[in-house]
Amino acid sequence: MPEPVPDPLDRLRDFLAGRDVYCPACSTNLRDHTTDRCPKCDAKLDVWNLRRRGLQDLTTTRTILLIAAVLVVAFVVLVLVFFRGAI
Ligand SMILES: [Zn+2]
Repeated sequence: MPEPVPDPLDRLRDFLAGRDVYCPACSTNLRDHTTDRCPKCDAKLDVWNLRRRGLQDLTTTRTILLIAAVLVVAFVVLVLVFFRGAI
């Protein structure tokens, strides 16, 4: 007997349960939302789009952290060069 295919709405509810996910159209927090329409702008919600967007946000956060780390290192190197030159 084949496995029952999960209902897309059930998948969406599972995905939104206890998780801060934002509407791609209006950025409303959809945490624990139970329908496939945004409560604010009525955009159709799709679990794959929301998941992909979440990964993009994660990648953006990592990129920002990497740039911040590079800037801190560059600052430390500049300070060291400056004080070494001043002595
Ligand atoms: Zn919305």
